[in-house]
Amino acid sequence: MLEVLDLTKTYGPPDQATPVLRGVSFKVEAGAFCAVVGPSGSGKSTLMNIIGLLDRPTSGVLRLDGLDVAFGDRGREARFRGATIGFVFQSFNLLPRLNAWENVALPLVYAGVSAREREQSALAMLERVGLSHRAQARPAELSGGQRQRVALARALIRQPRLILADEPTGSLDSVTAGEVMALLRDLNQRLGVTVLMVTHDRDLAARCERRIEVLDGRVVAEAGAAA
Ligand code: ADP
Ligand code: ADP
Repeated sequence: MLEVLDLTKTYGPPDQATPVLRGVSFKVEAGAFCAVVGPSGSGKSTLMNIIGLLDRPTSGVLRLDGLDVAFGDRGREARFRGATIGFVFQSFNLLPRLNAWENVALPLVYAGVSAREREQSALAMLERVGLSHRAQARPAELSGGQRQRVALARALIRQPRLILADEPTGSLDSVTAGEVMALLRDLNQRLGVTVLMVTHDRDLAARCERRIEVLDGRVVAEAGAAA
């Protein structure tokens, strides 16, 4: 499903370039539930942003579903991103003026889906994450766990093949974090969506079938089944 080959990323001008990724390679098989772990500053977010086509590597290859991503072709990058990848962030990134279902429906606006169909799909997705009863609530009226469920529903609304989650439980207490994690795991199994998740939480990482450990821009350990 996902293959990265010798990715490097360097920030700054050539004379004072700072390498952040120093040749990262790994594969994630379709349907996997995979954690990316490592200390702060090790390059995890940079790696996720490159895989999510929000940032470009300095060198290296990214393959999604066997297709080479042609970095630099904005149109192709955007199509890949929209159709293949769903994002979940630590800070939820919901729009405060929209209610829950309107937030969930947002990616469908850009995909050109009719208003009626957007509402139906969003309500169905809210049901999947156990929040149909809060469909009309705005983010400020929801708990942290509920907000992350809305964000998860939004990430799934275009039926992506891959969910990229950067510290999805980082703003939640441990009980709520465990619940969101269980939901993510359940969606991974029922929908077959591949999940790549950055987490600082060792217990949550231990519950993932695969772990990729990053240190100073390199993969230093892998656990679980490789592709
Ligand atoms: P992590 O997610 O593991 O905490 P990051 O990928 O956020 O690591 O950051 C890795 C390193 O890259 C850090 O030293 C950070 O300061 C640096 N970095 C991240 N983004 C940028 C940027 N846009 N410009 C310059 N340096 C950056
Ligand atoms: P985290 O450690 O949770 O991944 P950070 O606080 O390191 O987050 O980074 C937050 C954002 O700031 C990221 O998008 C990263 O790319 C950017 N960033 C981090 N370090 C730098 C830097 N030195 N220069 C510019 N942008 C940076």
